[in-house]
Amino acid sequence: MKRSQTLFRRAQLVIPAGVNSPVRAFGSVGGTPPFLQRGRGAQVWDADGRAYVDYVGSWGPLVVGHAHPEVVAAAQQAAERGLSFGAPTEPEVELAELLCRLVPSLEQVRLTSSGTEATMSAIRLARGHTGRHRIVKFEGCYHGHADALLVKAGSGALTFGQPSSAGVPPATAADTVVLEYNNESALEQAFEREGAAIAAAIVEPVAGNMNLVAPRPGFLESLRRLCTRHGAVLIFDEVMTGFRVALGGAQALYGVTPDLTTLGKVIGGGLPVGAFGGRRDIMQAIAPLGPVYQAGTLSGNPVAVAAGLATLKLVQAAGFYDRLAATARALCEGLARAAREQGVPFSAASVGGMFGIFFRSTPPASFAEVLQCDREAFNRFFHAMLGAGIYLAPSAYEAGFVSSAHGEAEIARTISAARTVFAGLRS
Ligand SMILES: *Cc1c(COP(=O)(O)O)cnc(C)c1O
Repeated sequence: MKRSQTLFRRAQLVIPAGVNSPVRAFGSVGGTPPFLQRGRGAQVWDADGRAYVDYVGSWGPLVVGHAHPEVVAAAQQAAERGLSFGAPTEPEVELAELLCRLVPSLEQVRLTSSGTEATMSAIRLARGHTGRHRIVKFEGCYHGHADALLVKAGSGALTFGQPSSAGVPPATAADTVVLEYNNESALEQAFEREGAAIAAAIVEPVAGNMNLVAPRPGFLESLRRLCTRHGAVLIFDEVMTGFRVALGGAQALYGVTPDLTTLGKVIGGGLPVGAFGGRRDIMQAIAPLGPVYQAGTLSGNPVAVAAGLATLKLVQAAGFYDRLAATARALCEGLARAAREQGVPFSAASVGGMFGIFFRSTPPASFAEVLQCDREAFNRFFHAMLGAGIYLAPSAYEAGFVSSAHGEAEIARTISAARTVFAGLRS
């Protein structure tokens, strides 16, 4: 860790906390983050030359593993033709056509450079389309760092939301209602009380930013029914779940079709791309056709689009998502078995190629239940696994990811390391 420590000290002098996105600083688990130098398939190497099996995958985008030769070649070839034009290009049309063909709710789609821009734009569009202001979101779901979405529940079930970050005006937060994930009766009550003011409900159809919380049967269906009844726009934030849990995203997996969908992560294959799209009649409200403004200098960037297209070609291979889901399931089952053998209270769950590990006897169904997990045990587990060459997300509140490059050897190595670590946790 010598070189990583030196780099981390240098970084902290010129970058706040030494990182360009907060969780990378290891604040939750403590210690020095390894500075990563290269990746290949399921592995990454740090600045000190140590190798790790990687379960972060750049927080989701790398569904075919690090530096996949076909993705790298596509990006290189695009770069040679020009890095950016700020004018329409054919590959953007190809990507939009592909997204509309594969994701059930998409009739039209617009590309952005990040997931945050996609959700921010989808919210503005829903407000512009309905002429209403209020937004419904769910506790523990993350939708990027736009003001209207950095909101947590106030005290009492139906009070106005409160900013979850300094700098977010209380008036902005007050238009966001925060409800408990998987709580259908709270949802019914909220719509009954203020349905006529609700522009949109936004949800992670599988929550992956409070560790992993799967939707209970009926939750997404209720949300769909209530939005339809009250004329609110239903937004599935599939920035994480899109092309991660199934080819058509969570909406294909659960058979619930939203009005708008936001995408990111996998559709850029590791380069910055986001997208929002959905019903044609709603999308027609965007400038220059309609009154809702949205733009981006680098939106639809040719290099990023090429990496996305190459990735989306690979994930369409027959059986891709069955194999990905089987890998995540094998990992979860193996970890749970190892913990049980050592008498450690632990559970694990997966949906497609994403998974959660919990120091708690059963997987949580809400943010409150996620908070019941033993964080101390997670932090010890995390550091011991890192020491054994297994790179997990550095927080008890993040989901993990496998890629098509993770095979039986990586899973076996991980479970074997975990068995030793669990034994140490007990003592
Ligand atoms: C990552 C993520 C975002 C934000 O995307 P960025 O590209 O980091 O701006 C939004 N929503 C969900 C569900 C995400 O997982």
